[in-house]
Amino acid sequence: MQFDLPGLQQLMLTLGEKGYRARQLAEWLYLRGAESFAGMDTLPRGLRSSLEERFVFSQPRVLHKRTARDGTVGYLLELSGGVKTEAVAIPSRKRLTVCFSTQAGCALGCVFCATGALGLSRSLLPGEMLSQLAVVAADFADVRVSNVVAMGQGEPFANYDATLSALRMMNSPELFGIGARHITVSTAGLVRPIRRFASEPEQFTLAVSLHSAEQRVRDLLMPGLSSQSLDRLREALLFYMEKTARRPSLEYALIRGVNDSQQALASLLAFCRVPAPGFHVNLLTLNASGITLGLEREAMSGGAEETPSEAQGAEGRRKPLSTPSAGSSPPLSAALPTLQKAGPAAFKRFENGLTAAGVGVSRRVSKGASIAAACGQLACRSVELQEL
Ligand code: SAH
Ligand code: SF4
Repeated sequence: MQFDLPGLQQLMLTLGEKGYRARQLAEWLYLRGAESFAGMDTLPRGLRSSLEERFVFSQPRVLHKRTARDGTVGYLLELSGGVKTEAVAIPSRKRLTVCFSTQAGCALGCVFCATGALGLSRSLLPGEMLSQLAVVAADFADVRVSNVVAMGQGEPFANYDATLSALRMMNSPELFGIGARHITVSTAGLVRPIRRFASEPEQFTLAVSLHSAEQRVRDLLMPGLSSQSLDRLREALLFYMEKTARRPSLEYALIRGVNDSQQALASLLAFCRVPAPGFHVNLLTLNASGITLGLEREAMSGGAEETPSEAQGAEGRRKPLSTPSAGSSPPLSAALPTLQKAGPAAFKRFENGLTAAGVGVSRRVSKGASIAAACGQLACRSVELQEL
């Protein structure tokens, strides 16, 4: 049973209660972060006892909290079964944004992302996503959560139903009341769910992690997506734009020597040549993921020496990237094991090129890098990271 509002309403009916009790229960569970049924004093005593008899109470436990100088707060959370995941609060003058996780770890294994190096523990339930907001809301008692982004650990569209359930409760005026346009889902680009998302009635915002418009490069960077071609992704996005008239954003972390060349820009411009509303491109600064692509280095150099920690870090988690075939570009492959953020000139070139082609473009530097809480750094650590 899903404990979203319709699911809780169903439960209330089964228990012989009025439907509005579902909203009260959801408030206790997801808004107030209650820790027992006994304390839910807006519910009748009999109902509290029935709930206690039927359900085990489980709220996430904050194992560790770290605050960056820029105000970003990272929370390491333990969920039922000892599974760990993370949420991040990003306060600014006008907003409080929560970046929440939809899974513990991620199965897709993008080579630039620390979450990908963890592998997948399990997908989260809607309540486990909402409780991440409740944890932040309790910590920032005077500020309302204004924006949410599904950009924490995991791939939201690999956990589609639970994520949509959670988004609806975030959007519900009876619960968090966050406007749909202030709720963003970021997908690595799973094609079928993008088409499905196009048909949802709410105006949720869609972001797609593109990172390269060249198939060969994207396959190296995002090996878990290699079965979903860029052509199919583009078609799904065209369908999405036609159906919703909304503009998805394309996330593109510029990586030196990998996806920042003139040729890479030309491919991106070709990808962006679509009818209105068109794409908006977010150029991201690559964050230090703290992972070492030891296996890949071995695969590409034919067995270079590794330190034990490198071998251990990559062991069993990532597939080795294929050794470049004769005639393919050695500089790209050689650049992969030591991913570095691109320099200012590349940012300028991409910005100018996209603007000249009439494509909206912004730069995004994610906050929280000093506490390993920025995009691509969520690996259940409580350590500090060095800047790249
Ligand atoms: N799985 C989803 C959402 C979680 S990742 C996705 O991939 O979109 C959230 C965002 O962090 C994505 O835009 C992803 O591309 C970006 N990201 C991952 N690793 C990064 C890194 N090292 N530096 C900058 N952004 C990164
Ligand atoms: Fe998973 Fe997204 Fe990280 Fe890729 S970038 S490994 S899809 S969380």
